[in-house]
Amino acid sequence: MIQSVNPIPAFDIKQQYTTIEAEVSAAVLEVLASGRYIGGPLVEGFEQQFAAYNTVTQCVACNSGTDALYLALRVLEIGAGDEVITTPFTFIATSEVISAVGAKPVFVDIDATTFNLDVEQVAAAITPKTKAIIPVHLFGQPVDMTSLMAIAQSHNLSIIEDCAQSTGAMWANEKVGSIGHIGCFSFYPTKNLGGCGDGGAITTNDPAIATKLRILREHGSKVRYLHEEIGVNSRLDALQATILQIKLRYLDTWNDRRRDIANYYYQFLSQIPGIVPPQELPGGIGVWNQYTVRISGEGRNGSSAKYRDWVRNQLQEQGVSSMIYYPYPLHLQPVYQNLGYQIGDLPIAEQACHEVIALPMFPELTQHQQDQVIYALKDCLG
Ligand SMILES: *Cc1c(COP(=O)(O)O)cnc(C)c1O
Repeated sequence: MIQSVNPIPAFDIKQQYTTIEAEVSAAVLEVLASGRYIGGPLVEGFEQQFAAYNTVTQCVACNSGTDALYLALRVLEIGAGDEVITTPFTFIATSEVISAVGAKPVFVDIDATTFNLDVEQVAAAITPKTKAIIPVHLFGQPVDMTSLMAIAQSHNLSIIEDCAQSTGAMWANEKVGSIGHIGCFSFYPTKNLGGCGDGGAITTNDPAIATKLRILREHGSKVRYLHEEIGVNSRLDALQATILQIKLRYLDTWNDRRRDIANYYYQFLSQIPGIVPPQELPGGIGVWNQYTVRISGEGRNGSSAKYRDWVRNQLQEQGVSSMIYYPYPLHLQPVYQNLGYQIGDLPIAEQACHEVIALPMFPELTQHQQDQVIYALKDCLG
């Protein structure tokens, strides 16, 4: 076994910080000296810049991507008795918020090549109780929004785009988060635009929605100490806003680099039998928050999950870290037992959970490091 000299992490946010350290430190110190820590002009400035970046008229910053999704459901007045269609192959936050507002998540299986909601199956899951659909642009790959918007329009449903992993991605020349009724973003540190803490934002072209979101995120009050409804405390702080303003200026360069890395991986991994590398749909421009391959086939150890785990261990022995997003589909989570799903109900998502490996992917990953990843995969699968 060749032990590589320098282990390759699955992601490395510290390294990115060193490339903008001087700029960020100066801005952070300025905020500390200002005494203005919550809200204020830096947050408002970021909201304007982020709206412009996403080609929408409105942006409301908040505390996290989870809160962005929660507030989106609240502003659409979705609650008890309502159903919301989403994907079982995503982070729990996407469906957690549906449950948190008292509505029922309805899971629809994914497409095997994109890992995204199978749009054709969405229509069949619509009932008179359905109020909204939450597509997730998973791993940075945009959902086919043209087809999804057509379904939503014909059934009068709202679309809340979960853009947590896809800041900057485009579908049919439009930014994700500007196509549906509401877009929800996360600035969790490992996202494409990541802060140094929690943060999130909501985008829309509807000024009435934005106004109501501002009230909801501030304890349901427009006039201080006068509360019109039950809201939450979900504000972005000035430290995050100033950091995000700086990082937003680099985002396209970083996303371009992620695309180059994805293309390089594809060139070589598509030659290795037993690996299925991800591919973009025509019309989509992804931003590769993750580079997730499938390790296909039952492999040498019987179960596909065991085989996948064996491959991961082999990679780790050669100094290549990897991750599994996601090991369990949401419809089979213990917390959703009450929904009555069984193993086999959403087979494509369940299979993905057994087969996926997320390879090292971050803008600072070097070609030499990528060669090591490719070599390690060839070594254990070839
Ligand atoms: C990260 C993530 C979220 C939640 O964002 P937080 O900022 O961590 O609350 C929601 N949906 C998806 C798909 C995510 O990856």
